[in-house]
Amino acid sequence: MRSNRVVNSDQFTTFTNGYILNNTEFDKRHIWHPYTSAVNPLPCYEVAGASGAKIHLASGETLIDGMSSWWAAIHGYNHPELNAAAHEQVDKFSHVMFGGLTHEPAVNLCRQLLNMAPAGMERVFLADSGSVSVEVALKMALQYWACQGRADKHKVITSRNGYHGDTFAAMSVCDPVNGMHSLFSNVLTPQLFAPAPQTRYEQTFSEDDILPLEELFEAHHNELAAFIIEPIVQGAGGMRIYHPEYLRRARQLCDQYDVLLICDEIATGFGRTGNLFGCEHAGISPDIMCVGKALTGGYMTLAATLCTEDVALGVCQGQPGVFMHGPTYMGNPLACAVASASLTLIGQNHWQKQVADIESQLKQTLPACLSLAAVKDVRVLGAIGVVETHHPVDVARLQRHFVKAGVWIRPFNKLVYIMPPYIISGDELNQLTDAIYMALSKN
Ligand SMILES: *Cc1c(COP(=O)(O)O)cnc(C)c1O
Repeated sequence: MRSNRVVNSDQFTTFTNGYILNNTEFDKRHIWHPYTSAVNPLPCYEVAGASGAKIHLASGETLIDGMSSWWAAIHGYNHPELNAAAHEQVDKFSHVMFGGLTHEPAVNLCRQLLNMAPAGMERVFLADSGSVSVEVALKMALQYWACQGRADKHKVITSRNGYHGDTFAAMSVCDPVNGMHSLFSNVLTPQLFAPAPQTRYEQTFSEDDILPLEELFEAHHNELAAFIIEPIVQGAGGMRIYHPEYLRRARQLCDQYDVLLICDEIATGFGRTGNLFGCEHAGISPDIMCVGKALTGGYMTLAATLCTEDVALGVCQGQPGVFMHGPTYMGNPLACAVASASLTLIGQNHWQKQVADIESQLKQTLPACLSLAAVKDVRVLGAIGVVETHHPVDVARLQRHFVKAGVWIRPFNKLVYIMPPYIISGDELNQLTDAIYMALSKN
């Protein structure tokens, strides 16, 4: 039977079960949000605009942004130069397929990326999101060894407390506990896990910290394709800041045992930790590197997987001779144009002083939280401030408190943390840290 369904796309947005739903109600009833129950969601606030370090709610309130929309909006919202880049490109063309075609936005972006990337990075694979760039990095590592006749090197090793994304290969290298491996144990590829690095950034490095990793490399190198880690700061897996020596030693182990080093710089890249890339704290270069999040200055989704010439040659040697990956929206010109404009802003190097100023201010203000009973630890590196509590926080309560206080901070589990846009003012930053202190003093 042929269906003659007529679609009125407006109707569903207005009526559900005969009731008129406003935007908040419709959202709550029908739209998934990140890591949120669909049936019992936390409240969501509707945004009407954003500029600089401020988010404007539809209800009229203005919030100072402490999150950079998850590490991304480093130059602040509604930036004139990023806006101009988007406008200029959208009037030329928004997208063409990347198979067999190329364009100036992609070429410009990749030139800039390779210019600023750690030594040895020669090739760029443009991916649609951070998770996809991690999939690409892992696939590159596996294909590299398969093409060398070493298909036995097919496992990945990582440190606990890592976060590398939500797709299945990325999930397989996330922390097995907070990455919920037990839930997907019958489908996730079993990988190898070393204990998380324990020595703090500012402490004296303890040899005990690297021993378990050395032992795992020694025992398993014949099956290891790659070691993947977030350099210096483990983000969503615990906001842990660790000692650069751990990374240097991991680099040495990778060289010694023929294992590729994948640095996931998706959160740490583009100045956030005080260096352009996290791996610069250790003075090392990876074989494969992922960037994303701040790549477009927070404007749209784009990520990239960079690799050395050796990896590229290895991947493309023998059969099939090509890298087996190609997203539909690969190299999206609109995203590339904005990313290119964002890297141009980074190239002006204001970020160095901005991030250093944020770091020194956070180091002065945030430790006050240590006097609160609810607080276990305070950590600061670059434009990242973390307050860890003894017990998981009540996210809904804290979120309400923060919005009332005129700030946007989104805690998770035992972590109340900020990574504000680099352009935030000293006063605005104080409002963020004051709000954290007040919120946790009521616990
Ligand atoms: C956010 C993040 C990812 C995943 O990126 P998406 O764009 O959310 O897919 C991967 N690795 C790290 C370190 C991240 O912080």
